[in-house]
Amino acid sequence: MRAQFLVGADGPRSLVRTHLGIGYAGASDIKRDFMGGLMLAVYLRSPQMYARIPHDRAWMYVTVNAQRRALLVAVDGQQDFALHAALQEGEDSEGIDESAARQLVIQVLGFDVEMEILSHQTWMAGHALVAERFSKGRVFLMGDAAHLFTPTGGLGYNTAVEDAVNLGWKLASVGKSISPLALLDSYEAERRPLAVRNTSYARQFADSVGLFVAREALEDDGPQGQALRQEASDVLNAHVRLEFNIPGVTFGGRYEGSPLIISDGTSPPPDTANDYQPSACPGGRPPHAWLPDGRSLFDAFHREWTLLLLGQGPWDASVVMEEAQALGMDLSLVQPDLPELQALYQASMVLIRPDHIVAWRGKHGADLVPFLPQVLGH
Ligand SMILES: Cc1cc2nc3c(=O)[nH]c(=O)nc-3n(C[C@H](O)[C@H](O)[C@H](O)COP(=O)(O)OP(=O)(O)OC[C@H]3O[C@@H](n4cnc5c(N)ncnc54)[C@H](O)[C@@H]3O)c2cc1C
Repeated sequence: MRAQFLVGADGPRSLVRTHLGIGYAGASDIKRDFMGGLMLAVYLRSPQMYARIPHDRAWMYVTVNAQRRALLVAVDGQQDFALHAALQEGEDSEGIDESAARQLVIQVLGFDVEMEILSHQTWMAGHALVAERFSKGRVFLMGDAAHLFTPTGGLGYNTAVEDAVNLGWKLASVGKSISPLALLDSYEAERRPLAVRNTSYARQFADSVGLFVAREALEDDGPQGQALRQEASDVLNAHVRLEFNIPGVTFGGRYEGSPLIISDGTSPPPDTANDYQPSACPGGRPPHAWLPDGRSLFDAFHREWTLLLLGQGPWDASVVMEEAQALGMDLSLVQPDLPELQALYQASMVLIRPDHIVAWRGKHGADLVPFLPQVLGH
């Protein structure tokens, strides 16, 4: 097979990464009571499950005592569930057949219920790893091949998709001879810091849930057991808000310091997991808004490059369009019918990349013209 480029999206045991001689850096084998060590995943079907659980119907249940910690996650909201339980010293994949997996589910639930075990498999929690490099020559790594998470916060696949979105438009731009090969160097410059950031957040979430120790007396009758159950409830309730209410992680990732981003000298909002402050500061996700016709502003963006014209104008967009055309750049003007956007974006002209990242913002198109080659990787 002959190709100009290769992308190794071949998972944590990446053949491509290994062949390139690129290692993972970071922390591995982190031990915790939960989400640090060998885990068992059981995929099961039980139409009676919700009727048997003596609590409100929920998307996820957390079970905790000194013997076993686990999560039961609804898959279809009806009858299919995924259970993830921490295994203990001496328990390994060899010893867990279907019957043992069933017994473990019953132990976690605290009751027997009719169920079909669809599959069961062990997996390892406790990684926070990022490849030392994301590319070598014309070969690139993405997804778990480039970064391996402990799956707290649900960030592994999200980060993988963002890798693809970032590299996708760049490969297309080089393939169409709009950008030089050097544009592809920005893939590592932009995505590796994000992988370090996201694996670090996931590690914090895993520490938050996994370092809690359930004591033997948790299930005792009487005041001591009651106090320990209350403590567990308080800790885990606070934890789930920390781990799952994370718009800051999801939307606040930024390509600070990327050679493709034209800084306007402003500072972005602080990077915090549980808060997201929309900002059009170059290098991040453009702020969202609903348009009068009911569409999202993002749906009005062009598939390739977009120049947003905000406020009342006049705008000197024609100089930008002429230069873009000369560079072969597929740029469209978008003028949303929403006056508030100028204040939201703190600018009257904003250049949006094909991957929906603000590349530049300002007042005058003439100021953008000299930077157009740079945003394309020249
Ligand atoms: C328990 C658990 C829960 C998770 N929950 C979440 C979540 O809620 N949200 C989230 O975003 N992420 C979650 N993740 C992480 C997510 O599953 C991974 O980040 C994601 O699957 C990575 O995708 P990928 O395509 O990079 O790698 P993979 O999914 O590993 O895919 C790689 C593919 O490459 C194939 N392959 C490998 N070698 C070769 C070869 N030599 N030739 C051809 N094909 C090959 C493999 O067979 C595989 O199909 C979770 C992970 C676990 C373990």
